[in-house]
Amino acid sequence: MNIDWNTDIYCLIGNPVDNSLSPKIHNHIFNENNANCIYVSFNVEEKDLKTVINSFKALNIKGFNVTIPHKINVINYLDNLTTEAKIMGAVNTVKNLNGKLVGYNTDGIGFAKSLYEEGIKIKGNRFLVLGAGGASYAICKKLAMEGANTIVILNRTLNKAKNLAETIKSEFKETNVYYDFLTNVSHYIDIDVVVNCTSIGMLPDVNQMPVNPLLFKANTIVYDIIYKPLETKFLLTAKERGLKTVNGISMLVNQALLSQNIWLNNDNILKSYEKIKGFLKNM
Ligand code: NAP
Repeated sequence: MNIDWNTDIYCLIGNPVDNSLSPKIHNHIFNENNANCIYVSFNVEEKDLKTVINSFKALNIKGFNVTIPHKINVINYLDNLTTEAKIMGAVNTVKNLNGKLVGYNTDGIGFAKSLYEEGIKIKGNRFLVLGAGGASYAICKKLAMEGANTIVILNRTLNKAKNLAETIKSEFKETNVYYDFLTNVSHYIDIDVVVNCTSIGMLPDVNQMPVNPLLFKANTIVYDIIYKPLETKFLLTAKERGLKTVNGISMLVNQALLSQNIWLNNDNILKSYEKIKGFLKNM
């Protein structure tokens, strides 16, 4: 990496961002595409968010990603939002367009793309979504936007599943939406695709599973958006049973490539998908 006076700076803001893979992924993509850019990460406290965003404008930072807990509040300090970001009510990518900050959301698109790449359609299918946090919110909205027939949201904290289900119901009349406790999963096993959006099974708690995948029928597709570890116990157990599985790496890579495509306006970046996936698998 040759850093000089002409190097463009991109970054991630969130709290905490200490273990984020984003700097490794983005710097690798920049290198692959010979872009004179660098990507760093900053822990940002809620109280400092406005100052930080304004300083990005002053320093002409070209773009940044936003993660927990700032995805919603950051909107207050941006000049414009894309339609997708407005529908999502959250922003994970910002581009500095001649001093104006434009907010995008690539969370849902990154997820939908990862399904299509596996030949899994959304329209007309029935989805069981485990969890009702930030990732679940983006994924459920995208599923409804793309015409899912049914979305069942199960969560430990019922109220969060209820709020998310009611938001989706009010905005997308065509999709059937239900919610329940995670522990009631056995009532919802007749489903096409199960998506784990909880953090259960993530490192270091690799021996835990959100629900038992042996409950599901033989043709159920099991998707775990966790990417640390690459194959969670949930996925390994589903695989042993012969179910088709998808891990979280493609959603992660797709989001990163979509952000860079927005920043650098270069469709060739999207072609780096396999190379970046390979790089991450070997990390
Ligand atoms: P979040 O907003 O903190 O939500 C966490 C979810 O997990 C909540 O629904 C929470 O339930 C549930 N949960 C956590 N511990 C639990 C436990 N012990 N028992 C039952 N439920 C539990 O997090 P997030 O941002 O949505 O991320 C969730 C996971 O997705 C993380 O592992 C993250 O790394 C992964 N992720 C992957 C990608 C990707 O690109 N592949 C993108 C985003 C996130 P309560 O509501 O009851 O607390």
